[in-house]
Amino acid sequence: MNEIKAPKGTRDIFAPEIYKWQYLEGAIRAYYGKFLYQEIRTPIFEHSELFSRGIGDETEVVQKEMYTFKDKADRSLTLRPENTAAVVRAAIENKLFEAMAPLRFYYIGPMFRYDKPQKGRYRQFHQFGVEVFADDSPQVDAEVIFSAVDFLKKLGIDQIQLDLNSVGCPQCRPAYLQTLRQAARAEEARLCPDCRRKIDGNPLRIFDCKQPGCAEASRSFPLIGDHLCAECRDHFAAVRETLSWMNVPFRLEPRLVRGLDYYTKTAFEVTSGQLGAQNALLGGGRYNSLIHELGGPDMAGIGFAAGRERIILPLEHLEAPGPKVLFVAYGDTQWLAHAVQLAEVLREEGYPVYIDYQGRNLKKQFKKADRIAAAFTLVLGDDEIKSGSVSIKNMASQEQVKISLKDLNEWLKKNY
Ligand SMILES: [Zn+2]
Ligand SMILES: [Zn+2]
Repeated sequence: MNEIKAPKGTRDIFAPEIYKWQYLEGAIRAYYGKFLYQEIRTPIFEHSELFSRGIGDETEVVQKEMYTFKDKADRSLTLRPENTAAVVRAAIENKLFEAMAPLRFYYIGPMFRYDKPQKGRYRQFHQFGVEVFADDSPQVDAEVIFSAVDFLKKLGIDQIQLDLNSVGCPQCRPAYLQTLRQAARAEEARLCPDCRRKIDGNPLRIFDCKQPGCAEASRSFPLIGDHLCAECRDHFAAVRETLSWMNVPFRLEPRLVRGLDYYTKTAFEVTSGQLGAQNALLGGGRYNSLIHELGGPDMAGIGFAAGRERIILPLEHLEAPGPKVLFVAYGDTQWLAHAVQLAEVLREEGYPVYIDYQGRNLKKQFKKADRIAAAFTLVLGDDEIKSGSVSIKNMASQEQVKISLKDLNEWLKKNY
């Protein structure tokens, strides 16, 4: 029979790598808890319409990368390619705008895009992200950006670079887009077929194209930064000022537009020189029209999404050890009951405990303890049972002590 393999672009994650993932998830919870973010878990699949409306019909993601399928009742469903639209949907549907305050969410979970797999990029990939609703103050933008950069730094990632731009708003962007379209039409011959199509749709996305002709041509295009309305300009200035209060260095990147249609005002990306070509760690921005467009109140939003596979890459040397195991061994099967009871007591105390039930001799149990990298092996043999004690071997140093069972807890507190 043929061996069944995981689908292309997906992978299994297990020990010891899984410890890094658990460490990262714990770090996200602890860090964002300090800013009063609450976790939200939305379904893995949604109605396809959510993404075509929320992300934008013309985007690369919606046109080429979504896993869309019909269910048995002929509904069009899509595996989520990102999570902002779903968090907004959840907030609208569950009336969280009325029920919760502050409206700050983080999520951790898998996303799906039919993309070309490469290092650090998968078809099932994992993101964590945050969303803040109902606050349009530029200081919130700065706080969200600060938290992203600070969190990555605290994980031990260095050579962090923050790129910042403002992509305007419904007041100033349409006029700018007209100017941009004119400039793009004048250079149409140099643009790739994809970018030619973008001229009438969202010409901003030409700035994202990596084709040399497009990159070359777009260098002479007008920039949104020169066409912002007064409100956008003030907002952007205040974001930059707040970032300077927070000692967050940034680089103004006037061609940073982000791939999705819903961004307004602040847009940002964080990269690390540690990663080489695929260096983006996270990206985000403000999306003040999205909530209303998806049927919710006219309410501001800002957030970012970070690729966990990317964040894990520079953490190769992170020490995220597995559990420190106590291995309970018994000298003879007649002491198995004692061993089982000791294991239970130790687990009650919070220790990870392993016991081998195969009734093998002590030598083989010690071998097993080595194989599972136990920290200590606790032996109950004839002597120990008779004297109400236990022998403890430190598996790393090979040191051995024999102590009274009633002192075990004290001993573990000191030596574990
Ligand atoms: Zn504006
Ligand atoms: Zn192009």
